[in-house]
Amino acid sequence: MRQLIAGNWKMNGSLTMARGLLDALRAADAALGCDLLVCPPATLVSVAAHALLGSRVAVGGQDCHAKPAGAHTGDISAPMLRDAGASHVILGHSERRADHGESDALVRAKVAAAVAAGLLPIVCVGETEAQRVGGQAEAVVAGQLAGSLAEDFAGVVAYEPVWAIGTGRTPTEADVAAMHAHIRAELERRLGAGGAGLRILYGGSVKPSNAAALMALPEVGGALVGGASLVAEDFLGIARAVRG
Ligand code: PEP
Repeated sequence: MRQLIAGNWKMNGSLTMARGLLDALRAADAALGCDLLVCPPATLVSVAAHALLGSRVAVGGQDCHAKPAGAHTGDISAPMLRDAGASHVILGHSERRADHGESDALVRAKVAAAVAAGLLPIVCVGETEAQRVGGQAEAVVAGQLAGSLAEDFAGVVAYEPVWAIGTGRTPTEADVAAMHAHIRAELERRLGAGGAGLRILYGGSVKPSNAAALMALPEVGGALVGGASLVAEDFLGIARAVRG
């Protein structure tokens, strides 16, 4: 399976910025040996979907509500994202877990809502620095997987150590490989054969200079990229570094 390089724009992006960036991705995509996904803020999902129409670059949301519709002021539902042209949605990002108190149970409900709407969920898991230092990283991630994924989960998992997000720090290659092997084993144990083929992305301070080494590690099926996804040259630099 081709690796997936997914960009999480977080709460960044204007109409002008989006048009320039999306045009650059569209122009470069055909020559890449990986799949591209952009996850702009909800205000730009429809803009991105239109700008990328006819290309292979996919568009995703950064979150969705667990309910398809209703009295939830300020929220966005999975059917709304689908209607706007999204095919994917990031769920359980550590910033959502921290800023909005999202639990594994809520993430699991959101995964069900996403799948019901025809979206492919990208579920984020990862330990804090204190948990890693305390030797709990694998147990924490196993717990998040158990709580967030139903037995029939068929989406993408993103391993994002919280302490590596936006900090410029990354785990060692050995630590990334070990955690991805652990996640694969957990997926196979919990989901059976279905867990063997799921993509496991690495996320946390991925940039052009470290992408080739990270993307070459076993069980790394691509990257979830934050800051570097906002600059076409950086995002495409990461995409060009994948093993193809
Ligand atoms: C992210 O927020 O998913 C992320 C990986 O951010 P960054 O690449 O900026 O560390």
